[in-house]
Amino acid sequence: MTPGETAAGDVATGVTRAEAVRGGAAAGGSGGGRGGPVPDAAAWDRAAELISAAGEVALACHVSPDGDALGSMLAAGAALRAAGKRVTASFGDRRFAVPRLLRFLPGQDLLVEPDRYPEAPELMVTFDVSTVDRLGTLAESAGRAAELIVVDHHPSNPGFGTLNLIDPAAASTTALVERLLHRLGLPIDEAIATCLYVGLVTDTGSFRHSSTTPAAHDMAARLVAAGLDTEEIARRLWDGSPFGYLKVLGAALGRVRLEPEVGGGLVWTFVTRADRAPYGLPYDEVEGIIDVVRRTGEAEVAVVLKEDDDGAWQVSTRSRGGVDVARVCSALGGGGHARAAGFTSRLPVAETMAGLRALL
Ligand code: AMP
Ligand code: MN
Ligand code: MN
Repeated sequence: MTPGETAAGDVATGVTRAEAVRGGAAAGGSGGGRGGPVPDAAAWDRAAELISAAGEVALACHVSPDGDALGSMLAAGAALRAAGKRVTASFGDRRFAVPRLLRFLPGQDLLVEPDRYPEAPELMVTFDVSTVDRLGTLAESAGRAAELIVVDHHPSNPGFGTLNLIDPAAASTTALVERLLHRLGLPIDEAIATCLYVGLVTDTGSFRHSSTTPAAHDMAARLVAAGLDTEEIARRLWDGSPFGYLKVLGAALGRVRLEPEVGGGLVWTFVTRADRAPYGLPYDEVEGIIDVVRRTGEAEVAVVLKEDDDGAWQVSTRSRGGVDVARVCSALGGGGHARAAGFTSRLPVAETMAGLRALL
């Protein structure tokens, strides 16, 4: 298998600009995971052509970036810059800040604040962005881009680009970036390998989730062979929490509930701004609480509601496979994968949970 190829093959599709639906509605037949056209090697070649022809490339990943979003964007950015392109990279959060645990990723000098992002890029590429909404304040630039390449692995992605490289069988968006760099003939140095590996190791839950295909292990082997310090990466990702995190985790676990009769077993809790305030704990530090809550053996579904700095609730859901949480979260305005999905709610916790229970 060549680099980046997945066991189930590509679901990469090309559409013309006229066919592309900006604004998130499904582009007819062009969505990767929705029974669109057959895997299309021509789409990869077209992406390589567009990128090769461009002098300037604007990159974007989803708001509140995780390791896969930032890792895929920075890996592509570093490789394109080394190839002589002018590269701009950003994500459209109103409070623009790289989460603490991702600050060790190389190449962050490529990042610009979203208000300095090109308004109408000649070529824009999005990474790990499942819907236009997830671009936040960069959605308008995407709407005005002459060409928009969407690189993603969410099955729910409607294919909102002029060219969509969407493969739900890929373990991470970084797997698709590795493949794209291979098509472009660009070398993967240790810095780029670090970014690619971080997306892979975080999205597969350290090679534990069902997305951990032979192709995912093959990719890890190639990256480790590039000379990665995997122990150091793991330490940076998981072993550097501030003390306040333990106190906030304690508060969240103190109010956790198990509802065995809902959806084959539901375990859930919530974390407020007030929990974090005494410790000055940033919002992104509580993203990992779902990984503790989901350990509950009696539960099929785990849910953590996290109040962000604007007072909105970011809801994380996880399933053991018996429930499609992407379906549930999509019905509530969000999206994601069958076993890991999310949505945003502005309702009180009790009302959000009532809405969720009704769908489980
Ligand atoms: P998280 O719980 O934040 O780790 O997210 C799990 C999955 O759900 C990821 O694939 C996200 O892209 C997706 N997701 C999380 N929040 C949202 C949201 N508000 N809208 C759409 N997708 C989301
Ligand atoms: Mn992501
Ligand atoms: Mn991802």
